[in-house]
Amino acid sequence: MSTTALQTFIDPPRIRRQLAEGAKASAKDVAEVLDIAAEMKGLTPEQTAILLGNADPELWDETFRLAKQIKQEIYGRRIVLFAPLYVANYCQNDCLYCAFRCTNDDLQRHALSDEELAGEVRALESVGHKRLLMVYGEHPKYGIDYITHTIEKAYETKTADGKGEIRRININAAPMDVEDYKVLKRIGIGTYQVFQETYDPEVYAKVHPPRTRKADFPWRLYSLHRAQEALLDDVAIGALFGLAEWRFEVMGLLYHAIDMDEKFNVGPHTVSFPRLEPAHNTPFTTNSPNLVSDEDFKKLVAVIRLMIPYTGMILTAREKPELRREVLAMGCSQIDGGSRIGIGSYSGEEQGNIPDRQQFSIYDNRTLDDVIRDLAEMGYTPSFCTACYREERTGATFMGIAKHGEVGEICQMNAILTFSEFLVDYASDETKRVGFGLIKDEIADLDERRREMVEGALKKMTAGERDLYF
Ligand code: SF4
Repeated sequence: MSTTALQTFIDPPRIRRQLAEGAKASAKDVAEVLDIAAEMKGLTPEQTAILLGNADPELWDETFRLAKQIKQEIYGRRIVLFAPLYVANYCQNDCLYCAFRCTNDDLQRHALSDEELAGEVRALESVGHKRLLMVYGEHPKYGIDYITHTIEKAYETKTADGKGEIRRININAAPMDVEDYKVLKRIGIGTYQVFQETYDPEVYAKVHPPRTRKADFPWRLYSLHRAQEALLDDVAIGALFGLAEWRFEVMGLLYHAIDMDEKFNVGPHTVSFPRLEPAHNTPFTTNSPNLVSDEDFKKLVAVIRLMIPYTGMILTAREKPELRREVLAMGCSQIDGGSRIGIGSYSGEEQGNIPDRQQFSIYDNRTLDDVIRDLAEMGYTPSFCTACYREERTGATFMGIAKHGEVGEICQMNAILTFSEFLVDYASDETKRVGFGLIKDEIADLDERRREMVEGALKKMTAGERDLYF
């Protein structure tokens, strides 16, 4: 029996049936599901399929409006910032959609040395980053020892002025066994990401050639279950939109979240929904029959917000700034800023995309300062907060806080503090002007007790203290 034929929580015939039923639903059915979604308790697969099957533009507008409202109620105006850091681009797999695939002979391969890694981290710290996503391909070079070594190295690396430091490292690395996850837990990582790429087992088998390690669909599908068994409880799911039909992938993400919630009493910490983008010498990225249009992209983001309202949503620099602005409002809580994804490119001279050193193209090449100013101008509070992870508010504890609406309170105060730290230490004059204006309004919106707490912390910051949080 092939591994993809094993029974998992992904049941393609059932998902297809639900989507077909959803497509037959009436406008009244869609409106009823939107009423249920407004209660912010999430949606069942059947309800989600009804939203996905909607063909009425006005009801889609209502879906977008509701996604914005839910985002605002749960996350407020806060947007968390991070930077991806590609550590190496060797890979033993042969995924059809990826420039890192082992058969791509036209890629410059490199793994950062300790010195180069420290250079990259210092370059990120010197513009104000505090949160990294370290990305590893799958290769015998990147065993658990290599991963832990590079994480420790990145945490150790500080700038000479003592202000630049990385306070949280999330990782995106190939599936591991429970023992390796225990090691990751011990060294202290933030969130652990494994994207299933596609939840459709047939498409999965087509884009991941047999005899590669990644061809094992269930091994990947249950990687985050194994991580939970090792008590690594902040885990992140994702699908690469453009491989299979987008509605199917949304259902796959929902079933993944439901299964984790049922088994571990906590769903995914975040969900990612990257779209397939052109990649060097990788024709599949532009030929796939399931590429997702901007319009459908907005729909899938809004439905994800409604179906799993308490899960963080990550919108990356794969998307153009204009689309990011629009989609951000529909429920996203985290974005990257100032991203460079060519190996060694943060400390290098080259700007923008470096196609033969990176996995795919990105379309938001603005600096971190520009992204932050843009967010502040739109009324969002950029946040570099790392408090929950360091205070052990992770997994089910974090979800409990989120579900009681306290994320908005604690996180908003910490967003103000970390944003202020960024403005004082790293921002351009124009960003300072916009940012401090926003902070003044944010403080005025707090109740008296919280205002005093934040103002007290800001006085300490003025006196030179850093890394203040609640
Ligand atoms: S998608 Fe990941 S596993 Fe596949 S070839 Fe690229 S880096 Fe390797």
